[in-house]
Amino acid sequence: MFIRKAHRMSPITHFLASWIIAAKTTDNPRDCRLVTLAGLAPDLDGLGLAVDMVNNALNHTSSFYYYQQYHHSLLHGVAGATAISLLLAVMARQHWRVFVFAFLAFHLHLLCDLLGSRGPEAGDLWPIFYFGPFSNHPMWLWRGQWKLDGWQNQTISVALLAWSFRTAVARGESFVGVFNRRLDGVFVGTLRKWRDAFALKWKSNAA
Ligand SMILES: [Zn+2]
Repeated sequence: MFIRKAHRMSPITHFLASWIIAAKTTDNPRDCRLVTLAGLAPDLDGLGLAVDMVNNALNHTSSFYYYQQYHHSLLHGVAGATAISLLLAVMARQHWRVFVFAFLAFHLHLLCDLLGSRGPEAGDLWPIFYFGPFSNHPMWLWRGQWKLDGWQNQTISVALLAWSFRTAVARGESFVGVFNRRLDGVFVGTLRKWRDAFALKWKSNAA
């Protein structure tokens, strides 16, 4: 039995990138959360894996039909982007703003997948079907695609983390707020304490 691994950038990378977009473009926690979720939503089409696993457990089979059929086809294109952005916009405070930036965060996810989702084998590239699931044309593929665990992806993740800390300190809210606002208060407080301690140390060294 052969199963294609879930080729995609790390969900954490997608999460940080879309949170930064959300933090810069929204002015309330609800909309910020919605735009962040848009950057994670494309990989929901990988949930077919759960269906397959249940089927396999019940029927003693080893098929990965739903996963292979839908992952990177159902929600990794313009149809998915439009549907998800509309859905999120309906729940938003500022409907149009959230639609536009959810659409953007969604597309950034697609771009990241296109750039950095190369699998373990040489020819194991991961294409984007922009008009999927309705059509397999066009199929976008980048031959220079980075490896999933390559240094490019790792560098980008570290840079995104640093950037999101900086944004959080300035804004007073961090990506933790997507899950829990009270916890976020504690987290940002700690970040600010670190920053102040660091600034103080730097000043005393310079003096
Ligand atoms: Zn993806």
